[in-house]
Amino acid sequence: PLALLEDAQLLRTDALLGGQWFAGGARFAVHDPATGDRLADVANLGPREARHAIDAACEALPAWRTRPAKERSQLLRRWFELLVQHQEDLARLITAEGGKPLAEARGEVAYGASFVEWFAEEAKRVNGEVLPHFQNDRRLLVLRQPIGVCAAITPWNFPLAMITRKVAPAIAAGCTVVVKPAELTPLTALAAAELALRAGIPAGVLNVVTSDDAAGVGRVLCESEHVRHLSFTGSTEVGRILMKQCAPTIKKLSLELGGNAPFLVFDDADVDAAVEGAFASKYRNAGQTCVCTNRFYVQEGVYDEFVEKFAARVQQARVGNGFEEGVAIGPLIEPAAVEKVKRHLEDAVAKGARIVTGGKPLPELGSGQFFEPTVLADATAGMLFAREETFGPLAPIVRFKTEEEAIAAANATEFGLASYFYARDMARIIRVSEALEAGMVGVNVGLISSEQVPFGGVKQSGLGREGSSHGIEEYVELKYLCLGGL
Ligand code: ADP
Repeated sequence: PLALLEDAQLLRTDALLGGQWFAGGARFAVHDPATGDRLADVANLGPREARHAIDAACEALPAWRTRPAKERSQLLRRWFELLVQHQEDLARLITAEGGKPLAEARGEVAYGASFVEWFAEEAKRVNGEVLPHFQNDRRLLVLRQPIGVCAAITPWNFPLAMITRKVAPAIAAGCTVVVKPAELTPLTALAAAELALRAGIPAGVLNVVTSDDAAGVGRVLCESEHVRHLSFTGSTEVGRILMKQCAPTIKKLSLELGGNAPFLVFDDADVDAAVEGAFASKYRNAGQTCVCTNRFYVQEGVYDEFVEKFAARVQQARVGNGFEEGVAIGPLIEPAAVEKVKRHLEDAVAKGARIVTGGKPLPELGSGQFFEPTVLADATAGMLFAREETFGPLAPIVRFKTEEEAIAAANATEFGLASYFYARDMARIIRVSEALEAGMVGVNVGLISSEQVPFGGVKQSGLGREGSSHGIEEYVELKYLCLGGL
């Protein structure tokens, strides 16, 4: 699929250190999850090169942080325009290495680019403050300064957007960055970096360390005294390791970790709208996003109707290679992901759940990493999906009686990223919105992401917010100036 890129120069396979493409001594293979084909061999950097990347970011910092905000803004704007201009090629790279259907990949390019546009605008609004003084011979100022060198470790499920969501606010604020993209999807990251160079973003401001030694490179980024901020999106398990590794250097952290999103449908809901919202929130990227619904709770009065209509909707979704026209559900990212879906499904069925549609892996299709979109009725709280994120196309549906019961079930998790519910009664909408322990709540809607809103979780789903006017706060420090002797 990559032979069809309009701009062959976007297929970069070397790492980017200090503005230079760097081949290093070793390579690792990147595969297409739909076919299993090897797409490219990418530079495999280690801890030593990660230190070089940090050095390059340190070197670039003084000039970048003192650049007028308007100039940083213009360079980001140019990068945004190039990302949009190369939407088709970037989408092809995303589908090739990540598997999501091409239409969804185009959507990711638009979404990913929107963070660059947004933070190009925000770069000009990192304002300071003048405070009322507490003594006549004093004046009190607050500066908002870039935190310094930042590191970003990103996942494979949004190969572009998870990078721009971190890199754009960092460089808008005047920071320099070292990115370690997921080893499963480095090609999109490198193409984005190529476009950043073309946009004129100076050498060393954005460095990309490709590696399949995530733990080794991760440790260097965490332990470095020069890296002042680490942003990570990925599993809660790895988030905990990184947080621990960052403790000795008291690094500022932004963590966007696992979710286990509940989706509640109340008796007063518009069931047809709930079915559409449920489908969108569950099956995007084959269920492999951290805001994908993991568990459904439907009130008894509409339970049977919802299950029947939802299963009918799911049956319309075609499974296949994301490059094929009309495919709604692509492959899972790796064999272990198929195993996890299987494990959650078997556990649920053993404990009394009923398969309404789907229920089987599709080992004969392509790479063998496909799974039928599956709907399970009669699911209960004791099943694995209630505690663990499935990250796949499995939709277990629990029946409930009362609002209190549904809220308690929704909150019975260490996670708190996204949640969704459908209802029409205004008092209930307010009550449930306030009671859900989640950083984000979709009310009568199944897709909630946008560059304009603060994305993030509570509890063990993470720290900090990305996007919106709040997103840049992660990358600035307040400095208080007390001017005396006036
Ligand atoms: P996912 O479930 O999305 O694969 P991971 O947390 O395993 O989540 O991976 C997200 C990112 O974290 C990837 O870039 C991966 O390479 C990286 N990663 C995995 N383990 C570690 C680690 N021990 N230290 C640093 N980064 C890691």
